[in-house]
Amino acid sequence: MPTEPMRTEAMPTAIRHDWTFQQVQALFAQPFNDLLFQAQSVHREHFDPNEVQISTLLSIKTGACPEDCKYCPQAGIYNTGLEKEKLLEIERVLVEAKAAKNNGATRFCMGAAWRSPSNKDMPQVIEMVKDVKALGLETCMTLGMLTDSQAQGLADAGLDYYNHNLDTSPEYYGEVITTRTYQDRLDTLGSVRNAGMKVCCGGIVGMGETTADRIGLLVQLANLPEHPESVPINMLVKVPGTPLENEAALEPFEFIRTIAVARIIMPLSHVRLSAGREDMNEQMQALAFHAGANSIFYGEKLLTTPNPAANKDMQLFDRLGIKPEQYYSHPDQETAMKAAIANAESDKHFYDAAS
Ligand code: SF4
Repeated sequence: MPTEPMRTEAMPTAIRHDWTFQQVQALFAQPFNDLLFQAQSVHREHFDPNEVQISTLLSIKTGACPEDCKYCPQAGIYNTGLEKEKLLEIERVLVEAKAAKNNGATRFCMGAAWRSPSNKDMPQVIEMVKDVKALGLETCMTLGMLTDSQAQGLADAGLDYYNHNLDTSPEYYGEVITTRTYQDRLDTLGSVRNAGMKVCCGGIVGMGETTADRIGLLVQLANLPEHPESVPINMLVKVPGTPLENEAALEPFEFIRTIAVARIIMPLSHVRLSAGREDMNEQMQALAFHAGANSIFYGEKLLTTPNPAANKDMQLFDRLGIKPEQYYSHPDQETAMKAAIANAESDKHFYDAAS
């Protein structure tokens, strides 16, 4: 006879910002099927379970970053063979943005490998936001740390989303990055919120951290004053030349558990299956969607790491009965998006992210 799935005291009844480590640990420790049932139940309260948001990201400045994030091929101190590029001209960005719009995209995301934008670069970046916005696209940027005035300048220019990840738990953070503090990141997130922009913030798993660190990261995210609208959960991509290139692989079910717990404790957020999808088979991706992931990146690359070919994504969507979010009720746009994805070229500037 079927039994009721386990309900822990931590079972959420409302949007909460007071999660304790023990409560989130209890969610993590559930039998796998109970955890996925709970995550899927929460997911269905707020989202169509058969829709997944699709985002793209253009790298507007690549490589030579002065930070030392051990996972990142864009850090200038690691020899990863990455081709460095200066800040793109606005005209080039607009060409890409128009192409994205013509192909059915509604959000255009731009990323730069900076510690923080310089005052010299801010006018050009702000102009990019205004010009892309004028095309009728939603805008998103990831530029590193921001001051209050920089955040306000971007918000005033019309920037909708800002991405800035916490990466891991406060306890493990120092093992991964030494050139900026956890508090620096929280401060930037505060500046972004105060300026009125939406937040995209998540982390990376598989960097040698413990389950407790994954729990610690999720507690941090869920206890922010507002949940990030987007929560990218990245699986480490072990890029040769980075200090983490030989890191042991994370157990796949542990990754799925992380997605499921993120879904449960941040019920209204888009949980994004981000970097590392290249190394996941279709079954694992399907399991991640079942656990509550409802956003992916499409295209040939995710920042500087490979990503599954876009048309493979669409084939998987078709087989799972998943529709791209925002295009579901607009068949023409959906068709355009599918065609664009199927024809996505390996333009080195087109990356697959909103973060
Ligand atoms: S993750 Fe961002 S801040 Fe860190 S090295 Fe890479 S580009 Fe720089």
